[in-house]
Amino acid sequence: MNSKSSEQRSGHLVLPGERLGVIEEFSPDSGTYSKDGVIYSKVVGCALMDMLNRKVSVYPLISEASVPKVGAKVVGQVGNAQSDNVLVRIFKVGPKKLSGVFSGVLHISDVQDRYVNSMNEACKPGDIIRAKVISEKNQIYHLSTVDKDLGAIFAFCSRCGNLLEQKRNEMRCTKCGNIEERKTAYDYGNEGL
Ligand SMILES: [Zn+2]
Repeated sequence: MNSKSSEQRSGHLVLPGERLGVIEEFSPDSGTYSKDGVIYSKVVGCALMDMLNRKVSVYPLISEASVPKVGAKVVGQVGNAQSDNVLVRIFKVGPKKLSGVFSGVLHISDVQDRYVNSMNEACKPGDIIRAKVISEKNQIYHLSTVDKDLGAIFAFCSRCGNLLEQKRNEMRCTKCGNIEERKTAYDYGNEGL
Protein backbone atom coordinates (compact mmCIF):
# COMPACT_ATOMS: atom_id res chain seq x y z
CA MET A 1 0.00 0.00 0.00
CA ASN A 2 2.83 2.39 0.87
CA SER A 3 4.35 2.15 -2.58
CA LYS A 4 1.04 3.38 -3.98
CA SER A 5 0.85 6.48 -1.81
CA SER A 6 2.02 9.97 -2.85
CA GLU A 7 1.82 9.07 -6.54
CA GLN A 8 1.90 12.74 -7.35
CA ARG A 9 4.32 15.36 -6.21
CA SER A 10 3.58 19.02 -5.70
CA GLY A 11 3.85 21.03 -8.87
CA HIS A 12 2.97 18.19 -11.22
CA LEU A 13 0.48 18.91 -13.96
CA VAL A 14 -2.57 16.71 -13.47
CA LEU A 15 -5.64 16.05 -15.59
CA PRO A 16 -9.23 15.46 -14.51
CA GLY A 17 -9.60 11.95 -13.13
CA GLU A 18 -5.90 11.60 -12.39
CA ARG A 19 -5.12 9.80 -9.13
CA LEU A 20 -3.54 12.00 -6.46
CA GLY A 21 -3.42 9.81 -3.38
CA VAL A 22 -5.59 8.03 -0.84
CA ILE A 23 -7.74 9.43 1.96
CA GLU A 24 -5.66 7.63 4.60
CA GLU A 25 -2.90 9.99 3.58
CA PHE A 26 -4.56 13.27 2.67
CA SER A 27 -7.85 15.03 2.97
CA PRO A 28 -9.21 16.11 -0.41
CA ASP A 29 -9.35 19.89 -0.81
CA SER A 30 -10.33 22.25 -3.65
CA GLY A 31 -10.07 20.95 -7.22
CA THR A 32 -10.26 17.32 -6.11
CA TYR A 33 -12.81 14.64 -5.38
CA SER A 34 -12.61 11.27 -3.69
CA LYS A 35 -14.16 7.98 -4.67
CA ASP A 36 -13.73 4.65 -2.89
CA GLY A 37 -10.96 6.09 -0.73
CA VAL A 38 -8.93 7.42 -3.63
CA ILE A 39 -8.45 11.13 -4.32
CA TYR A 40 -8.59 12.36 -7.92
CA SER A 41 -8.16 15.68 -9.64
CA LYS A 42 -11.31 17.41 -10.86
CA VAL A 43 -9.55 19.96 -13.09
CA VAL A 44 -6.49 20.48 -15.25
CA GLY A 45 -3.97 22.02 -12.94
CA CYS A 46 -1.04 21.94 -10.64
CA ALA A 47 -1.13 19.39 -7.80
CA LEU A 48 -0.41 20.87 -4.37
CA MET A 49 0.46 18.39 -1.64
CA ASP A 50 0.35 20.08 1.76
CA MET A 51 2.36 17.59 3.78
CA LEU A 52 2.07 19.67 6.96
CA ASN A 53 -1.71 19.77 7.01
CA ARG A 54 -2.12 16.52 5.07
CA LYS A 55 -4.24 18.18 2.41
CA VAL A 56 -4.21 17.79 -1.32
CA SER A 57 -5.60 20.35 -3.73
CA VAL A 58 -5.27 21.19 -7.41
CA TYR A 59 -4.70 24.75 -8.54
CA PRO A 60 -6.51 25.10 -11.88
CA LEU A 61 -4.27 26.10 -14.79
CA ILE A 62 -6.98 26.74 -17.32
CA SER A 63 -10.34 28.29 -16.72
CA GLU A 64 -13.35 26.09 -16.14
CA ALA A 65 -14.71 27.30 -19.47
CA SER A 66 -12.09 25.39 -21.44
CA VAL A 67 -12.98 22.08 -19.81
CA PRO A 68 -15.55 20.08 -21.81
CA LYS A 69 -19.08 20.44 -20.43
CA VAL A 70 -22.31 18.72 -21.34
CA GLY A 71 -23.64 20.45 -24.47
CA ALA A 72 -20.23 21.75 -25.55
CA LYS A 73 -18.94 21.13 -29.05
CA VAL A 74 -15.48 19.62 -29.13
CA VAL A 75 -12.93 18.65 -31.75
CA GLY A 76 -10.72 15.63 -31.36
CA GLN A 77 -8.84 12.84 -33.06
CA VAL A 78 -10.17 9.32 -33.22
CA GLY A 79 -7.90 6.88 -31.40
CA ASN A 80 -8.54 3.25 -30.52
CA ALA A 81 -11.55 1.79 -32.25
CA GLN A 82 -13.73 -1.11 -31.15
CA SER A 83 -16.60 -2.50 -33.20
CA ASP A 84 -19.16 -0.44 -31.26
CA ASN A 85 -17.21 2.58 -29.97
CA VAL A 86 -14.12 4.72 -30.50
CA LEU A 87 -11.91 6.72 -28.17
CA VAL A 88 -11.51 10.40 -29.05
CA ARG A 89 -8.63 12.60 -27.92
CA ILE A 90 -10.34 15.96 -27.39
CA PHE A 91 -8.03 18.92 -28.02
CA LYS A 92 -10.45 21.75 -28.65
CA VAL A 93 -13.60 22.92 -26.88
CA GLY A 94 -15.63 25.48 -28.81
CA PRO A 95 -13.06 27.86 -30.32
CA LYS A 96 -10.48 27.16 -27.59
CA LYS A 97 -7.54 24.83 -27.95
CA LEU A 98 -6.84 22.94 -24.75
CA SER A 99 -3.50 22.68 -23.05
CA GLY A 100 -4.47 19.30 -21.63
CA VAL A 101 -5.97 16.44 -23.56
CA PHE A 102 -9.28 14.94 -22.55
CA SER A 103 -10.59 11.54 -23.55
CA GLY A 104 -14.06 11.04 -24.90
CA VAL A 105 -15.99 8.02 -26.09
CA LEU A 106 -18.24 7.91 -29.13
CA HIS A 107 -20.63 4.96 -29.05
CA ILE A 108 -22.12 3.51 -32.23
CA SER A 109 -25.66 4.42 -31.10
CA ASP A 110 -24.69 8.12 -30.92
CA VAL A 111 -23.15 8.39 -34.40
CA GLN A 112 -26.24 9.36 -36.37
CA ASP A 113 -30.02 9.05 -36.18
CA ARG A 114 -30.20 5.94 -38.32
CA TYR A 115 -28.78 2.47 -37.77
CA VAL A 116 -25.02 2.12 -38.20
CA ASN A 117 -23.72 -1.35 -38.91
CA SER A 118 -20.15 -0.87 -37.79
CA MET A 119 -18.02 1.93 -36.41
CA ASN A 120 -15.95 1.61 -39.61
CA GLU A 121 -18.77 3.29 -41.54
CA ALA A 122 -18.69 6.31 -39.23
CA CYS A 123 -15.08 7.11 -38.43
CA LYS A 124 -11.64 5.53 -38.31
CA PRO A 125 -8.52 6.03 -36.17
CA GLY A 126 -6.72 9.22 -37.20
CA ASP A 127 -9.86 11.07 -38.34
CA ILE A 128 -10.57 14.49 -36.87
CA ILE A 129 -14.17 14.76 -35.71
CA ARG A 130 -16.42 17.45 -34.29
CA ALA A 131 -18.77 16.12 -31.62
CA LYS A 132 -21.06 17.23 -28.83
CA VAL A 133 -20.59 16.22 -25.19
CA ILE A 134 -23.82 14.46 -24.15
CA SER A 135 -22.78 13.25 -20.70
CA GLU A 136 -19.82 13.26 -18.36
CA LYS A 137 -20.85 10.27 -16.30
CA ASN A 138 -18.00 8.65 -14.32
CA GLN A 139 -15.62 11.42 -15.50
CA ILE A 140 -15.82 10.12 -19.07
CA TYR A 141 -16.95 12.45 -21.83
CA HIS A 142 -19.63 10.68 -23.88
CA LEU A 143 -19.89 12.16 -27.35
CA SER A 144 -22.49 12.37 -30.10
CA THR A 145 -22.14 13.16 -33.81
CA VAL A 146 -25.85 12.95 -34.68
CA ASP A 147 -26.37 16.64 -35.62
CA LYS A 148 -25.65 17.92 -39.16
CA ASP A 149 -22.70 20.02 -38.08
CA LEU A 150 -21.10 17.05 -36.30
CA GLY A 151 -19.03 14.13 -37.54
CA ALA A 152 -15.74 13.81 -39.39
CA ILE A 153 -14.25 17.14 -40.49
CA PHE A 154 -11.06 15.53 -41.82
CA ALA A 155 -10.83 11.83 -42.70
CA PHE A 156 -7.91 9.89 -44.05
CA CYS A 157 -7.63 6.98 -46.47
CA SER A 158 -7.11 3.76 -44.53
CA ARG A 159 -5.03 2.42 -47.41
CA CYS A 160 -2.57 5.27 -48.05
CA GLY A 161 -3.28 7.95 -45.44
CA ASN A 162 -4.22 10.66 -47.96
CA LEU A 163 -6.98 13.11 -47.02
CA LEU A 164 -10.31 11.80 -48.35
CA GLU A 165 -12.39 14.03 -50.59
CA GLN A 166 -16.14 14.11 -50.21
CA LYS A 167 -18.22 13.89 -53.39
CA ARG A 168 -21.94 13.65 -52.69
CA ASN A 169 -22.24 10.65 -50.33
CA GLU A 170 -18.93 9.15 -51.27
CA MET A 171 -15.56 9.57 -49.60
CA ARG A 172 -12.85 9.10 -52.21
CA CYS A 173 -9.07 9.03 -52.01
CA THR A 174 -7.71 11.05 -54.94
CA LYS A 175 -4.35 9.30 -54.62
CA CYS A 176 -5.21 5.60 -54.65
CA GLY A 177 -8.90 5.62 -55.64
CA ASN A 178 -10.05 3.93 -52.45
CA ILE A 179 -13.70 4.60 -51.53
CA GLU A 180 -14.77 4.68 -47.90
CA GLU A 181 -17.70 5.63 -45.71
CA ARG A 182 -17.89 8.24 -42.99
CA LYS A 183 -20.44 10.19 -41.01
CA THR A 184 -19.29 13.69 -41.93
CA ALA A 185 -20.13 17.16 -40.73
CA TYR A 186 -21.82 19.32 -43.41
CA ASP A 187 -18.68 21.49 -43.62
CA TYR A 188 -16.32 18.54 -44.07
CA GLY A 189 -12.78 19.64 -44.97
CA ASN A 190 -13.34 23.32 -44.21
CA GLU A 191 -12.52 23.77 -40.54
CA GLY A 192 -9.27 25.59 -39.86
CA LEU A 193 -7.53 23.82 -37.02
ZN1 LIG B 1 -5.67 6.27 -50.60
